Amino acid sequence: WTEGTLLDAENSLTELAALAETAGSQVLEGLIQRRNRPDPATYIGRGKVDDLGSLVLSAGADTVICDGELSPSQLRNLEQRTKVKVVDRTALILDIFAQHAKSKEGRAQVELAQLEYLLPRLRGWGETLSRQTGGSGRGGGAGGGVGVRGPGETKLETDRRRIRHRISRLRREIKAMRTVRETKRARRTRNGVPAVAIAGYTNAGKSSLLNRLTGAGVLVENALFATLDPTTRRSTTSDGRVYTLSDTVGFVRHLPHQIVEAFRSTLEEVAEADLVVHVVDGAHPDPEEQVRAVREVLGEVGADRLPELLVVNKTDAADEETLLRLKRLWPEAIFVSAHRGRGIDDLRDAIERRLPRPAVEVRVVLP
Ligand code: GDP
Repeated sequence: WTEGTLLDAENSLTELAALAETAGSQVLEGLIQRRNRPDPATYIGRGKVDDLGSLVLSAGADTVICDGELSPSQLRNLEQRTKVKVVDRTALILDIFAQHAKSKEGRAQVELAQLEYLLPRLRGWGETLSRQTGGSGRGGGAGGGVGVRGPGETKLETDRRRIRHRISRLRREIKAMRTVRETKRARRTRNGVPAVAIAGYTNAGKSSLLNRLTGAGVLVENALFATLDPTTRRSTTSDGRVYTLSDTVGFVRHLPHQIVEAFRSTLEEVAEADLVVHVVDGAHPDPEEQVRAVREVLGEVGADRLPELLVVNKTDAADEETLLRLKRLWPEAIFVSAHRGRGIDDLRDAIERRLPRPAVEVRVVLP
């Protein structure tokens, strides 16, 4: 590794720690290993596993989180050697997404991604810790379990089959929900209702802002909107034009491919919005990096050509110096606090100014 990649590794580890805290963990210690490529058996290499083992003991940790994707056998080997639960970056992100998914579709999408992740790792989970014989370290390819035959296998096969069934069922359900959503969206497009997508890094405060902007719990009975997904709400400009605001999936650096696949339709929907409101956590140690990561994902789904309104959130928790720096860096950005309600009117105005003006105005008369 060059110094640059070491810095990358440190940043990535800092971010991993922040993600772990988001998921509700308390982070005790960090460990960086320099290698040209991961060790096939243990990812970090035999010597480093011993260091890790001592670190786990001295810190009294109950979990090891690894910044990278572990193969099923690497995960198993590490658990066996450290005697604690080992989680990789993908599993951690999936966990956070599971906590954050609010809509029925979102929850189904996360479950699908989790099951696809779990399927090849099925044997490793739980079993490593209880099976102390230590014989499975050899020849453990993808799926593992070579040479481990016995009554357990039947149960494993049943579990795998059940998971496969659940996966195909989830796929069908997601497809059906997608069709319904597309039909509704097509109707709104025909009716000239502009769409605003709220994008941003996981935990930046997207849902909090959505609530602030639309007034949580305000359900308006209107044919066009009554059956909206909970993550899409309607709002009205000061001159009575209606638009929709949708919360999108949270973005994370190196988003696991299972997530991108499961959420593809939701992500692609962002590309059809009229405006992207990009929420950044101003109290985060590295907001610029978050912005870069989000723009990268937006680019992947073809949403990088849309007009973007940058919103720096959590100004109540950010320090003055950072805020000044960010103001210089992003002079066009709107600074808000979803918690305190600060800057929300400015944000509403800014959104309004950027909405496309329909040739024919649609007015919805509220009761
Ligand atoms: P999302 O993952 O982007 O949808 O983020 P959430 O809206 O779920 O918020 C993530 C966390 O940040 C929650 O714990 C919120 O309470 C917190 N949060 C959101 N907005 C603010 C804010 O303006 N100030 C502070 N201090 N915390 C906020």
